[in-house]
Amino acid sequence: MDFDLNEEQRMWKKTVHEFVAAEVQPKAREVDETDQFNWEAVRKGGAIGLLGLSIPEEYGGAGVDSISTMIAIEELGWGCGSTALALAAHNGLGTAPLVKYGSEELKKKWLPLVSSGKGKLAALVMTEPGAGSDIQGGITCRAEKVGNDWVLNGAKMWCTNASIAEYIIVVSRTDRGGGSRSLSMILVPTDTPGLHIAPPEKKMGLHGSPTHAVTLENVHVPLGNLVGEEGRGLHQTLATLDGGRISIGAISLGLAEAALEAALAYAKERKAFGQAIANFQALQWKLADAATEIELARSMLYKAAWLKDQNRPYTTEAAMAKLFASEMAERVCYNAIQIHGGYGYSREYPVERMYRDARLMTIGEGTSEVQRLVIARATLR
Ligand SMILES: Cc1cc2nc3c(=O)[nH]c(=O)nc-3n(C[C@H](O)[C@H](O)[C@H](O)COP(=O)(O)OP(=O)(O)OC[C@H]3O[C@@H](n4cnc5c(N)ncnc54)[C@H](O)[C@@H]3O)c2cc1C
Repeated sequence: MDFDLNEEQRMWKKTVHEFVAAEVQPKAREVDETDQFNWEAVRKGGAIGLLGLSIPEEYGGAGVDSISTMIAIEELGWGCGSTALALAAHNGLGTAPLVKYGSEELKKKWLPLVSSGKGKLAALVMTEPGAGSDIQGGITCRAEKVGNDWVLNGAKMWCTNASIAEYIIVVSRTDRGGGSRSLSMILVPTDTPGLHIAPPEKKMGLHGSPTHAVTLENVHVPLGNLVGEEGRGLHQTLATLDGGRISIGAISLGLAEAALEAALAYAKERKAFGQAIANFQALQWKLADAATEIELARSMLYKAAWLKDQNRPYTTEAAMAKLFASEMAERVCYNAIQIHGGYGYSREYPVERMYRDARLMTIGEGTSEVQRLVIARATLR
């Protein structure tokens, strides 16, 4: 059921859905089994704007609103968790901070390239081997000014898209004093000497979305590659994550929708005790709970995206929507496997993959515990 979408948003949803059904969903199993990123679909997606969701048209993007961005990621999540995560990270982490904080020169240089489908994608990394939730206190990657350059040294972890990106925005410490004004975002082109991208991590799911450790050894980039203000990296990262959390919630929602569809189809077809298993109330309740929770998650995500479009504060709503949608997706995928019985545990059926893909969503872009911290802080205020 559609929230009160306007005509443009409805058309957009239809266009993206048809694209995903034709180009993304049919390859979801293959990308999972072969660990291959679906470049073919992603390049084609550039033509309909999927690579420049928040990028203004003057830089080659689609420049759609936050609700439409959420819809696009939801549809991608419905088709393939891996492709959805890659494009959520590209749009939400890799390009969004450049659009919002980047200099005109950086925007003109990079945004048309990464939004066209002709170049590679974009990435952002804050996480390090020893620092994830605690980016303010934990980041040790340093960027120092030497002449006209920033010189970066450090180790980063879990960078989605690193090997398929034109550049990585590296959240680095630019002030040894620590504190909330000691981090900055610096754009590092992936062909810069000294930037090493490790082979893809072997993960539980999302096999078609490459994730890498990245090390920086005396990496020189011009001072102009600072994204936004020096010392405002923490603030800029947290603001970026607010939007990213809507995207992770949207992938969760799409995965849950796909799992419910699969469970419904199976329940109507599979017979036990002389009738379709959909007739058993025990399973009907699982289906009813899934449909209800999906509806609720969608409303929460639309609300957070709507607040963002109104330029109103949405940190708490984004955290609530991400928390609920990601935990909901896991429940729905779990029950979709249960409804499939033994076949649900087989790779022949898609619900097994959806369950593995959904597992990341309560961890990436802030764990469920971190979302609860954000929500508790607002609730106690
Ligand atoms: C597939 C994948 C893709 C990713 N992509 C990116 C990316 O593109 N860019 C990027 O920068 N990062 C990325 N990440 C990293 C991800 O954002 C982090 O893994 C996540 O933020 C958690 O950090 P951590 O793994 O260091 O866990 P930790 O911070 O070490 O947390 C470990 C546990 O402690 C809990 N915890 C920590 N602090 C508290 C607290 N104060 N109160 C209660 N509990 C707490 C956590 O909730 C968790 O359960 C990715 C991770 C994965 C797995």
